[in-house]
Amino acid sequence: MQYSATNNDREDSGLKEGFSLTHTSEDTRRFLIDAFQSRGSISSLIPGFEERPQQQKMALLVWDSLAKGGHLLVEAGTGVGKSLAYLLPAAYWCLTNKKRIIVSTHTVNLQQQLVGKDIPMVAQILEDTQGRGTLNYALFKGRSHYLCLRKWNRVYEDTLKNLQLFEAKEEEKKLQRLSTIIDEGAWNGDREELPFHVADSTWSNLCSESDRCMSAKCPFRETCHYHKQRKYLESCHLIVVNHALFAAHLRLYQDTAGKTLLLPGHEAVIFDEAHHLEGVFRDSLTFDVGYNHLKRLSDDALRMASREPFSKLLPGGERERIESALQHLLDLLHKTLANLDPGVLYGGSKSSGRRQTRPYINFGRDKYRLREPQTIDESIVESLRNFSEVITAWTDFDLSDEERFEVNALARRFLAIAGKIENINTLEGDGDSFVYWSELEKRGRQRQVTLNSSPLEVGSYLRENLWSVLPSAILTSATLSTGSSFEYIKRLLEIDAAEAIVGSPFDYPNQACLCVPADNRGKEPNSPIFDDYVAEAVLQIADLVQGRSFILFTSKKALETVSQITRDRIEEKGYPVLVQGEMSREALLAEFKNRGNAVLMGLDSFWEGVDVPGEALSCVVLAKLPFPVPNDPVMQARDELWKAQGLNPFAHYSLPVTTLKLKQGFGRLIRSKTDRGAVVILDSRLITKAYGRTILRSLPPARFTTDLDDIAQAVPQPGGA
Ligand code: SF4
Repeated sequence: MQYSATNNDREDSGLKEGFSLTHTSEDTRRFLIDAFQSRGSISSLIPGFEERPQQQKMALLVWDSLAKGGHLLVEAGTGVGKSLAYLLPAAYWCLTNKKRIIVSTHTVNLQQQLVGKDIPMVAQILEDTQGRGTLNYALFKGRSHYLCLRKWNRVYEDTLKNLQLFEAKEEEKKLQRLSTIIDEGAWNGDREELPFHVADSTWSNLCSESDRCMSAKCPFRETCHYHKQRKYLESCHLIVVNHALFAAHLRLYQDTAGKTLLLPGHEAVIFDEAHHLEGVFRDSLTFDVGYNHLKRLSDDALRMASREPFSKLLPGGERERIESALQHLLDLLHKTLANLDPGVLYGGSKSSGRRQTRPYINFGRDKYRLREPQTIDESIVESLRNFSEVITAWTDFDLSDEERFEVNALARRFLAIAGKIENINTLEGDGDSFVYWSELEKRGRQRQVTLNSSPLEVGSYLRENLWSVLPSAILTSATLSTGSSFEYIKRLLEIDAAEAIVGSPFDYPNQACLCVPADNRGKEPNSPIFDDYVAEAVLQIADLVQGRSFILFTSKKALETVSQITRDRIEEKGYPVLVQGEMSREALLAEFKNRGNAVLMGLDSFWEGVDVPGEALSCVVLAKLPFPVPNDPVMQARDELWKAQGLNPFAHYSLPVTTLKLKQGFGRLIRSKTDRGAVVILDSRLITKAYGRTILRSLPPARFTTDLDDIAQAVPQPGGA
């Protein structure tokens, strides 16, 4: 049986050989087709629901992948309604087979949509039409989102003692409020569900942590919020998580040879927003270590030494000796890190002669690649190991189980930091497959230097630990293919999968116009006059489309320059200008929608995951092609690796990643069948370079023009006229 999507499904690659549609029952297929019809079960729950053959097709593809096993890559164009297209077959399959599926997303917004709207709807449909029983589901967050009752009791005890001496400070007042909420028993321990904000520094002393969890031996185990939620998952058919949590689950699976798992057993995983997977899995294998990590550990050690029973058990003067030794260690680490980055940490000269002799390469202000071993004073690692032994010796005292656990956990943390520094010091990752660097982070007046290590590729890790183990993985996104090919994502993730492109139901040739102005020739994106050119174009565009636009940049500096040049002149015309950084992303978006004729200038976070249907967003301007930053240690090391493998890094990585990002940016424009508008890309390389044509072929089939004036006809008249 063949399913064909019509309309603009021009890129439909169909099914690959060996991916049979015939093995599932006709009843199930009929149910799925009916559910997505204009008078089907979904239409009765969504006012104005429109039947989309693309949505039906995707639902069948997902069903077949689950029923038969094997992996599937499915790119679903904007407007397909892909979340329902995978949730309905997934939920049906779980209930029918009594199995569990993990649904993993990149963004919180999508998680909220799934759990708050889409899954309840699917559960209702299955109950009403199929009598398949109750679908259980949950959103599961990382353990640091949940309160640890054991840590809470310890911290609150200390707080109460302090309150007897001092007037309550702001955070302590919040702890008192927290105490009331905990006593009432109505709170589930999730930080985001508190009616007030608790500072990160406070929460880090209260939240559940794997290396400080007593698990089965914990006196609070029965009421533990994290473990209660974890236990509830055992009864769930669908569990929604984010990619980072799933990546942590996989890492733990690998580290413990499958003995310890964050998530309960599951037969399949659906990865939505799957274009982020490679970055998230790489992050999960990346680590950093710096002064603040040791400072926190040092504070915890001193706090323990000052508290009973240790304050009574430790020999006289021992606590002071520990404090002084820890301070010495912190000073040494601080000096070492400062020496790695003297200019930025101490405000010294960037052109200092000292820098020339350092065994690393300067990546500008913030990152320095570590290329040679023994950059860090070895005595730091030795001291950390000594501390671990000193603290372990405290277990000789007569302690309760909980105190003994705390001592061992603290000793292990000293060893863990020693291991990380040693790893970076010896550059002892797996051959050439890791990169090391130091990094400066500026937070207000505070400056922190951390040491970092990251793998260069994650494909073999995923192939060995995930794709070869999991019966079925479904990866979906609006941007997985380049030029109708999945080669890039398959190579990056080393996944062997069936593939399909389900085109958008939108009528792009009639709904959208793509303009790459011909007058950008000679205004190369890297030339000093480029920002001025962008500013002039933005002024012209604001006039042509009466505000109502997103102007998206790839660098903060360009955003600042262009917004400074244009702001007053655009506002004089009566169009409000909103600039990222001036308020939260959510507040900016709300304001943009509310004003209806605003110009919003934004960075990375507005290129995707933003949904503004209607005429408020009639034009999307992309200032520059979003190529990855070349002078980054990870990018540089990956380039070297690929060149050594005989690959061209530009074709192998930079071009596909840029194309996918551009598709995401383009995707902000048309969000419904009634939307109309224009995308303007000001980067001349799209029409002057050969690779520009490759990129253009991957974008939605909008009408193409090089005349900026044409966009005036492509956008709707204000007020919907
Ligand atoms: S079981 Fe672990 S997370 Fe839960 S309260 Fe005890 S120590 Fe905290």
